[in-house]
Amino acid sequence: MKIGFIGLGIMGKPMAKNLIKAGYELVVADLVQSAVDELVALGAESAENGKEVASKCNVIITMLPNSPHVKTVALGEGGIIEGAKPGSVLIDMSSIAPLASREICGELSQKGIDMLDAPVSGGEPKAIDGTLSVMVGGKKEVFDKYYDVMKTMAASVVYVGDIGAGNTAKLCNQVVVALNIAAVSEAFMLAKKAGVDPELVYQAIRGGLAGSTVMDAKVPMMLDRNFNPGFKIDLHIKDLNNVIETSHGVGAPLPLTAQVMEIMQAIKLDGCGIEDHSSIVKYYEKISNAILERE
Ligand code: NAD
Repeated sequence: MKIGFIGLGIMGKPMAKNLIKAGYELVVADLVQSAVDELVALGAESAENGKEVASKCNVIITMLPNSPHVKTVALGEGGIIEGAKPGSVLIDMSSIAPLASREICGELSQKGIDMLDAPVSGGEPKAIDGTLSVMVGGKKEVFDKYYDVMKTMAASVVYVGDIGAGNTAKLCNQVVVALNIAAVSEAFMLAKKAGVDPELVYQAIRGGLAGSTVMDAKVPMMLDRNFNPGFKIDLHIKDLNNVIETSHGVGAPLPLTAQVMEIMQAIKLDGCGIEDHSSIVKYYEKISNAILERE
């Protein structure tokens, strides 16, 4: 099967590489030529834009930053809609607003093009290992047809409902991750200020009820003062914007999320937008006048 892949960033590049490893033929596109060249060196074909990708493949995956990028690549000039044949499918694995997924799907369906919204969780390490979690919205029969393609990049692929439901699940995921990083930052700064070695506190509590995937991924980064992304603060702010807009639309107040959003806004002003979201700890460092690092 020939698969189109558009968006070869931190996540898209390793995901595309895993599809090649699994034996799929790939046609790739990105604005960054070096990312395209890397995939071409592994056997992929390159294309100029969504239109050209779609004219060469019936299955097109997108892994782009946000709703406007997916709208442009899918529906804009030189977009997928101009090149795709009826019966093709767009599997959008970007994290975007559920409403945008529904709008894009509506436009594509008028040309007989199917769509799944299939955002992922797990970050770069799991994208590299092919062990992402994928949450999928769309028609169940389309999900069943392309399950194996998505499973090539993932440990779990779960159907959650109609188009937009995948991104709704992803927004829930991003709320839990944001609040969890803030909780971990708050707790470990307490340990530091109380004069107890944060590394030992981590070892003591990680196996109990407080332990989490977030704690295991982010506390070692914080203690190493390694804030290389990973998942950038700017992208998490993008997700929380989508969360808050969606929550207001459905009447689900999110007081804690709003507070963590303001923490992210504050550290962005300090130049942390392009850092990993574990840099939330820097907000606590500022208000506590201490640095969280290994003793
Ligand atoms: P990224 O910024 O590293 O990659 C995005 C890529 O899209 C870039 O290579 C960019 O050049 C390309 N692009 C943008 N507009 C384009 C266009 N018009 N045509 C072709 N290419 C275009 O972002 P990322 O970290 O890979 O994230 C991608 C998506 O996955 C986002 O929605 C993000 O929220 C989500 N996500 C990221 C992570 C993570 O840990 N990084 C984890 C889960 C989900």
